[in-house]
Amino acid sequence: MSRAITEWVSGPVIRARPEGTFVMREAVRIGEKGLLGEVIRIKQSEIVIQVYEDTTGIRPGSLIEGEGQPLSIRLGPGILGGTFDGLLRPITEVNIDGAWVEPGSVKPVHESYYFIPQITNGNSLKAGAIIGVVKSDNGRDQHILIPPKVHGVVEDLVTEGNYKDNETLCFLTGEDGSRVAVSMVHNWSVRVPRPSLARIPSDEPMLTGQRIIDCLFPIARGGKAAIPGGFGTGKTVLLESLAKSCNADVIVYVGCGERGNELAGLLEEFSQLEDPSTGRLLLERTVLIANTSNMPVAAREASIYTGVTVAEYFRDQGLDVALMADSTSRWAEALREVSGRLGELPGEGGYPAYLSSRLADFYERAAKVTTLNGDRGSVTLIGAVSPPSGDFSEPVTSHTRRYIRCFWALDVHRAQARFYPAIHPLHSYSTDADLLARWWHAEGCTRWHEFRLRFLTLLDEQAHLERMARIIGKDAMPAHQRFVLMCAELINEGFLRQSAFSEIDRSPSPARQAVMMRIIGNFILQSEELVEKGVTPEAISHLAVFRRLMRMSEDIADGEWEEFSELAISLQKAMQELVDAEADSNQQQEGV
Ligand code: ADP
Ligand code: MG
Repeated sequence: MSRAITEWVSGPVIRARPEGTFVMREAVRIGEKGLLGEVIRIKQSEIVIQVYEDTTGIRPGSLIEGEGQPLSIRLGPGILGGTFDGLLRPITEVNIDGAWVEPGSVKPVHESYYFIPQITNGNSLKAGAIIGVVKSDNGRDQHILIPPKVHGVVEDLVTEGNYKDNETLCFLTGEDGSRVAVSMVHNWSVRVPRPSLARIPSDEPMLTGQRIIDCLFPIARGGKAAIPGGFGTGKTVLLESLAKSCNADVIVYVGCGERGNELAGLLEEFSQLEDPSTGRLLLERTVLIANTSNMPVAAREASIYTGVTVAEYFRDQGLDVALMADSTSRWAEALREVSGRLGELPGEGGYPAYLSSRLADFYERAAKVTTLNGDRGSVTLIGAVSPPSGDFSEPVTSHTRRYIRCFWALDVHRAQARFYPAIHPLHSYSTDADLLARWWHAEGCTRWHEFRLRFLTLLDEQAHLERMARIIGKDAMPAHQRFVLMCAELINEGFLRQSAFSEIDRSPSPARQAVMMRIIGNFILQSEELVEKGVTPEAISHLAVFRRLMRMSEDIADGEWEEFSELAISLQKAMQELVDAEADSNQQQEGV
């Protein structure tokens, strides 16, 4: 084991004199408490270490010991449903001190799980193959896989029963006679993406239960999205809504540098809420990685990679995983702080020059893949970005934009008007949308693509017309323009507005979203015809049934399909009456 002696300490950075060889990214233990650190720079006579824990008490002379392996996390069946710090050490009442894990206090706890083998001795297995399942009390069975890079013929397989997670379940003997013990857990370096057989294009959406996302700016499974927004525009509420209602099998929620009480609130809520699709507690499908603003800054830098690695671990079991990070700006600030202490030359906004490539490394790990054992799995990444004073041209937002496919821009004016979710339809985009039109089509929403474009066009036209309406007054505008304003109002208020706190509307099913989209889309097409025939937009918007249309998101719940059809029929009838009345008055005029 190599050793080094501390010479200089500044916050999370230590310079030390090595006595032995260290390698880049090697994990080290520092001082009596055994603080965890990582070698990030090496010179002949000096190593530089980034420390993931509070360095109070470390002084020149403190001893550093190399661990001979890169900083890695322990992956196994105990992760699902747990709460961890940035290095995947469990946060429990025992080791929690105030809000963070006490340095060096976390010894791995080896829990027992009920293991059922699914192979037999003599089987020749490749890396990533399933050797069996672990039955959990919480009803979520997990596959135990052979870790990447290990393969061979199975020997000494245990029988079904309870085993500690670090007990050997079998040995694998390779062609060269090497013998590797396989248990339920294995270590993986957080900065190295876990291998898969192939990336596959995704043609299936990850449904979020937010109409503005699913219908206007959808995200594919294995996709990547950014949620930029100034302070208080609703990033956290949106991410939490997604974590609650998106249709992923596993959620990894990384609370990164944001307020600790928010995360405590989330934990509390998740431990009570049920997952509507399974009836089990939401917490049981969630992994919470907490590195709040009061916790050591360097661990925040690692927490993002820890989160993706955990997500990839579940992906390799053939699951669809969604990772939410709140917020990547705080992560970038951690990067900046450590870089500053290292004396590196600052780039744009004081961030290190490698900010962009680090962001790319993170978002690159989103994918739908064929796993090593031939299964399908995906990791979808969603990162909040909190640009200072809401300026989207700042470095973190602008670099993030280069690597994501969905951009859900939160707008401060919408948030101030309490229009939620405050995603601005003209500043947002999704490059997955064309790909996903086919999915909606197959689900029976045959005009999804057409309606989506129509909605976006109307909202775009509204932006231009509103300016004019302010100058010349709405009444002076031609009927067609007043029609556009009426439709845009309907789309905004009746379709896009959706409260995260409404019992009925907080996570509509795709079927309900499709019905609402169809009713509004058809209504727009029909009223356009009416306006062409001479009916005024005001005559339409004053219909009693128009008000019902506006309120349908709050009034008609999921599954009440008859009420939706009744509304559609009433609309049809009322519009026909308008046409007839218009024809009558034309006839009368002709008669005169
Ligand atoms: P940020 O994380 O961007 O600073 P928050 O997510 O904490 O902002 O949102 C601030 C406040 O805005 C919330 O406390 C809530 O009252 C309101 N809010 C945000 N999003 C929604 C929503 N979808 N529905 C209802 N209220 C919301
Ligand atoms: Mg927030």
